[in-house]
Amino acid sequence: MKKPPIIWANVTFFVVSTLMALVAAPLWGYFHGFAAWHWVALVVLFCYCNLSITAGYHRLWSHKTYQAHPALRWFFALGGALAIQNSVLHWSSDHRVHHRHVDNDDVDPYSAGRGFWYSHMGWMLREYQASRYQDYSNVRDLQKDPIVEFQHRHYWAMVWSLNLGLPILLGLALGDVFGALLMVGFVRLFLTHHTTFFINSLAHIWGRNTFSSKHSAKDNGFLALLTFGEGYHNFHHTFENDYRNGIRWFDYDPTKWLIKGASKLGLAKGLRKTPEEMIVKARLTRQLEEATEKAQAKGLCFAELHRHYEETLATAQRYFQLRKRWLQMKKAKLKQSVEALELRKQLEELGDKLGQLQAHWQKLRLQMA
Ligand SMILES: [Zn+2]
Ligand SMILES: [Zn+2]
Repeated sequence: MKKPPIIWANVTFFVVSTLMALVAAPLWGYFHGFAAWHWVALVVLFCYCNLSITAGYHRLWSHKTYQAHPALRWFFALGGALAIQNSVLHWSSDHRVHHRHVDNDDVDPYSAGRGFWYSHMGWMLREYQASRYQDYSNVRDLQKDPIVEFQHRHYWAMVWSLNLGLPILLGLALGDVFGALLMVGFVRLFLTHHTTFFINSLAHIWGRNTFSSKHSAKDNGFLALLTFGEGYHNFHHTFENDYRNGIRWFDYDPTKWLIKGASKLGLAKGLRKTPEEMIVKARLTRQLEEATEKAQAKGLCFAELHRHYEETLATAQRYFQLRKRWLQMKKAKLKQSVEALELRKQLEELGDKLGQLQAHWQKLRLQMA
């Protein structure tokens, strides 16, 4: 099939910015050196850009996993323009199509099924999206946000003034304009681009299907380190309305911490979380699927596995039901009531039983491995 025409503006932009970051910046560093402030500004603006994409473009606007104060929305809209990843409106429109038609090579704008290179960058280098380039029918809700509209209308003015203005001002103040343009401009942009592009490429190729095998998205703790928490992509595609991607307290998800922190300061509200029983069910079902496949391959009997799955699932669901009720009573300051004390006793017993069931479940899974 004939490939669509090349978008020369994008190709030139990526070639120039890559050469500036990978060739010009190291040469400048070798001959002139970089000061501590170059490195500090690089890290600060890199984090600002990436978090604007993950907490703003992605979890706020594309998925509406929480609501944000206008001050925070402006902060993210400016950071997204600094990151040069298109306007909120365009990015979110693409991303909603990606979720809706994930892995459909004809519709998913950056389908990983078309290979690493295509999902990482290739999709932006040719006119693959021409037919729906101006179609914003799936983001009408976002068009009502005046900040999104303003950023979309003045996107390029914001891109140039921020990407040239910030390094130049910093360079003028600290005495190295060209070094600032290289380090705070191009190196920062190169790092921001590739670490966010990894979410479309590697996060659909490398890692585990912890919660679902219905899509190619993977959970990968190492990728989470590079992507401000977005590496828990299997969870994200399974429960896209959750403001978290890494759900365990120790999962590295700075985007989740930023949103939670903003809510403590009154800058974010309505943080959406998936009910725990749904998460447990998805994880157990996926484990059952995996263990059954292995048992079948080895010719082992998996009847006990299925029986045990049913019992563990039923106990877990009962446990979370009771816990929800207990938390409601605690909130209503009825913790010491007879009903609450009885509930608490039942919860402790069920918790112990669930722990034993889960330990046995792990043992059964290991036997199949
Ligand atoms: Zn998403
Ligand atoms: Zn994805």
